[in-house]
Amino acid sequence: MRAEVFRAIDGLQLPAEHRTLLRPGEAENDADGNVHHLPRFFYEVASWQQAHEIRLAPHFKLAELMTVDCHEAELLLHEFPHYVPCAIILLARFLEDFRREVDAPVFVSANGGYRSPAHQIGGAKSIHAWGTAADIYRVGDTFLDDTKSIERYGAIAVSLSPAVLVRPFGSGAGKTDDHLHLDLGFLTLTPRQCSETT
Ligand SMILES: [Zn+2]
Repeated sequence: MRAEVFRAIDGLQLPAEHRTLLRPGEAENDADGNVHHLPRFFYEVASWQQAHEIRLAPHFKLAELMTVDCHEAELLLHEFPHYVPCAIILLARFLEDFRREVDAPVFVSANGGYRSPAHQIGGAKSIHAWGTAADIYRVGDTFLDDTKSIERYGAIAVSLSPAVLVRPFGSGAGKTDDHLHLDLGFLTLTPRQCSETT
């Protein structure tokens, strides 16, 4: 990954339209009532071509972790540059570890990586808005759509780091039955050249 093609920016410096949708650094309550600050620093992605070219880890391209559909806000879906939280590079590293452990390709669903706080699924209350969560629908030839497969691969993900949470199998709130949700917590990353002054 070449630093010069992947520019880190301070979300507070973005135009108002983008700030309204991305809400850099703003506080938000999660489903349990805990307050977290949304990501402030983003990598600027110039085009889909660039997203497909940038490998965040040997087996994970940036594009795989930022694919969204019409559930995303119009501006963020259709106009470049796109902005992804800097912590997404750590998610990719974790997925690479996971891939190595399961020894098979790992597939992240559309809307299953980074989603902005303006995205219709979960919005700012979803940890996907931190760029630290992935919804995996398939590992190798196995589709993760039953108790056995979700529990099996969930246990492997959890075994790799105490930071990891996986959602249990089920159809109620906080559960999943057609993918494995894993996340690293409300992690944010400040690139060393960025200043956190307001
Ligand atoms: Zn998820």
